[in-house]
Amino acid sequence: MERIGFIGLGVMGKPMARNLLKAGFSLVVHDRKRDQVEELAGEGAKPAMSSREVSEKSDVVFTMLPDSADVEVVVFGKEGIMEGIREGMLYVDMSTIAPATSRKVYNALREKRVESLDAPVSGGDVGAREGTLSIMVGGMEEAFQRALPLFEIMGKNIVLMGGPGAGQVTKACNQVVVAVTIQAISESLTLARKAGVDPARVRDVLLGGFAQSRILDLHGNRILNRNFQPGFRTKLHRKDLAIALQIGREVSLPLPATAYAAEMMNSLIAQGKGDLDHSALALLVEQLGNV
Ligand code: NAD
Repeated sequence: MERIGFIGLGVMGKPMARNLLKAGFSLVVHDRKRDQVEELAGEGAKPAMSSREVSEKSDVVFTMLPDSADVEVVVFGKEGIMEGIREGMLYVDMSTIAPATSRKVYNALREKRVESLDAPVSGGDVGAREGTLSIMVGGMEEAFQRALPLFEIMGKNIVLMGGPGAGQVTKACNQVVVAVTIQAISESLTLARKAGVDPARVRDVLLGGFAQSRILDLHGNRILNRNFQPGFRTKLHRKDLAIALQIGREVSLPLPATAYAAEMMNSLIAQGKGDLDHSALALLVEQLGNV
């Protein structure tokens, strides 16, 4: 059985690591927050003081970190993964980061004969807890097959999308759809309200027709119930749209609707609401219309 390491035990990483532990794997864990490590150590994981230590004691190392810069620190930084790797190991980054960073990590590890995969997820904290995440993977087929039994413990819809970075591009595409759809739903339900039609009934009818979507269902409900507790924080979604816009620049594709949603998220963050769920975009539409 492969020895597993897991670095980054936040909202997503902790339940994902816990599922690997419950499946019977030997697990070494690290997070810069000690209490996160101790919680999993109490459940049978082995605590590590650094990413280097995780790397030294594992065959497969997972990371679930906030952003590209965090992945660079954990991989290349002092006491990082690079300092503890051996030929034949596998590194799997499940964070949502820039594809350019995933490719940089891939190339650096390849020189040490270590394979790596970018494997961002969708499905949120509920999917992480229930082991039902969608996992979008970039990298080589052989490395994917090696990681697959471990992915199957954390997720359900697991697809190899292409070479290094392809998983991150897929996740960016996902985040574009989610952001632009939340903006559309915010406008639609606010239009109903201001024009004197019950927005709850509008949502119900739309859910039975061509405009139906999971986002209209879940985020529409949040907007109607004024439930903006995350969920998915606006500031994390702005990070993901910045990645999508960067990819757009790299391939010279304008993404005007994505840019609009990103600017609206900037505004929410400027108002001190960056920790609210991304469905709080509706608050801005309401402000603009004095609703
Ligand atoms: P989080 O902030 O809750 O967790 C990140 C963890 O990484 C924290 O515990 C932090 O202490 C740790 N960390 C950061 N830098 C570190 C370092 N240098 N060394 C050791 N530990 C370090 O974030 P999250 O919500 O778990 O999200 C993680 C990633 O997953 C992000 O890229 C996010 O965009 C993505 N994601 C999140 C969700 C969601 O619903 N929260 C859904 C899909 C994808």
